Amino acid sequence: MSQNQSFIPVAEPSIGDKELIYVTDCLKSGWISSLGEYVRSFENQFAVYCETQYGVATFNGTVALHLLIATLNLGIGDEVIVPSLTFVATANAVRYTGATPVFVDSERQTWNIDPAAVAAAITPRTKAIIAVHLYGHPADMDALRAIADKYNLLLLEDAAEAHGARYKGRRVGSLGDAAIFSFYGNKIITTGEGGIIVTHNQAWAERAFFLENQGRYNDNPYFHPELAFNYRMTNIQAAIGLAQLERIDQLIEIRQRNAAHYNRRLAEVVGLTLPPAMAWAENVYWMYSVLIEDEFGLSRDEVRARLRAANIDTRPFFYPVHTLPMYHSGQSLPIAEDLAQRGINLPSASTLTPEQIERVCDTLIELQR
Ligand SMILES: *Cc1c(COP(=O)(O)O)cnc(C)c1O
Repeated sequence: MSQNQSFIPVAEPSIGDKELIYVTDCLKSGWISSLGEYVRSFENQFAVYCETQYGVATFNGTVALHLLIATLNLGIGDEVIVPSLTFVATANAVRYTGATPVFVDSERQTWNIDPAAVAAAITPRTKAIIAVHLYGHPADMDALRAIADKYNLLLLEDAAEAHGARYKGRRVGSLGDAAIFSFYGNKIITTGEGGIIVTHNQAWAERAFFLENQGRYNDNPYFHPELAFNYRMTNIQAAIGLAQLERIDQLIEIRQRNAAHYNRRLAEVVGLTLPPAMAWAENVYWMYSVLIEDEFGLSRDEVRARLRAANIDTRPFFYPVHTLPMYHSGQSLPIAEDLAQRGINLPSASTLTPEQIERVCDTLIELQR
């Protein structure tokens, strides 16, 4: 195992010439804040890409989620059901509004929110469910929709990790009542920092735009009838995003091809569980992830350390949010906790080469010798 081979990151953005051209055009135009053609084009085109009608772009994905929950008027006294195995922002955005995130366990098969656990967590205070499409694999939206309809709850998607993924042929982002995406630098497409709300609901889109824009109406811009936010995306961000969006199909295709390559090499390895791939899902593999089972013979952390010694970066799965200090209650969610302890994100960028994938797989397989 050679120490001096080049470093392979878990994630890195793919920035092309078009991004430079659009950003340069944006800067030269002088429209560098949140007014400008790129923001409106990006919102419209991303909404169309998601098979939705409206897009409201924001400064990052976390504020998109906060803005969405504020738009839906959820707050103190309301409960919002979230998976515990997710990035912390899913729960924080609920908490920012004064509403209470209620954590539920994951399904072993998909690593996503377990619909049966959702049904069991409903109380008279429950107002919404947030599905997260973890690492690029869609959650079981039909099962969640049935529960949401039965109990008259909002069904929201945190699709920050799953741009372009499909559930039974339909794009994520179009399946819930509204959805958010993130365009952070390591996401499937990026705007540096960035986010968006997409929805079919015109009134919500207008309300979200009003609230992210300091609570103003264009015909009377310094009269602010309500407490609101500045969560707007800049035209510079949107210029990057528009160029990325023009290449999104290609970026996803590369991730799927890379995942197939990993799957071919790793399928026979004892003690490795490969990423979920339900028949009804199209996974976009934001992160190509594996579980290190006991039969592998080394602990998850040992595997990570040995890969690191070979100059291969990995990440552990998220800590289940219910175990973090600000949410800790002694609650036990055994599947989320087990997945979190076994999971590794392997190098997953769309810049990854077949040679690099071979090196990661060779190194991983070598660990068992
Ligand atoms: C990345 C991410 C977000 C939002 O992230 P930002 O960095 O604020 O854009 C929200 N939820 C999940 C599940 C994420 O992975």
